[in-house]
Amino acid sequence: MINANDYLEMGMAFHGHKCPAMPLGLRAGAIAMNKLGVERAQDKELKVISETGKGHAAGCFLDGIMAVTGCTYGKSNIEKLYHNKMAFTLIDVKNEKSVRVTLKPEFFKNTLNSPFVQERKKGVPPQDIDPMIADPLVEKVLSMPEKAFLTVGEIKPFKIVKKSGVFEAVPCDDCGEMTFVDKLVKTDKGDICLGCDGK
Ligand SMILES: [Zn+2]
Ligand SMILES: [Zn+2]
Repeated sequence: MINANDYLEMGMAFHGHKCPAMPLGLRAGAIAMNKLGVERAQDKELKVISETGKGHAAGCFLDGIMAVTGCTYGKSNIEKLYHNKMAFTLIDVKNEKSVRVTLKPEFFKNTLNSPFVQERKKGVPPQDIDPMIADPLVEKVLSMPEKAFLTVGEIKPFKIVKKSGVFEAVPCDDCGEMTFVDKLVKTDKGDICLGCDGK
């Protein structure tokens, strides 16, 4: 069983500040993992499809999900749909099974009225918010029962299209920078990178 608390310190170091949304991602991620009965991804055993976006409140949620699941942008086993919704699907790649979890509307409505979010609305950076405000909210997130905040869907099949990685890179014929060959464009100037193409 995965316990969100075990990832709090690492998650905070990775995320950069103390806020309630990152630990919320730890909790939701851990619950999804336990539902599927999976361990943290060492490579690409898991995949996350997140419905969150950018520039909205509580986007920090996804850093918690990344920290606990091990699904990261470097390993490319996470993608963001930019639907600006507090939901994600966790996929067990080997067994081709998935579960979608989403924050309960009532819970999330309350979150948007929390003193932490009020401070953020006033323009206070998250790292400057008084611990008297942040700490109890983080404590609550880490201890509240699953039913209080999360809707966990049924386990569903998820078909994975397996692609092998690209290991060959050559210098772009224009800028000379190393580029993986699958993203080179054939032109009069030779095989060039997407950064040079069209400039
Ligand atoms: Zn945050
Ligand atoms: Zn180039």
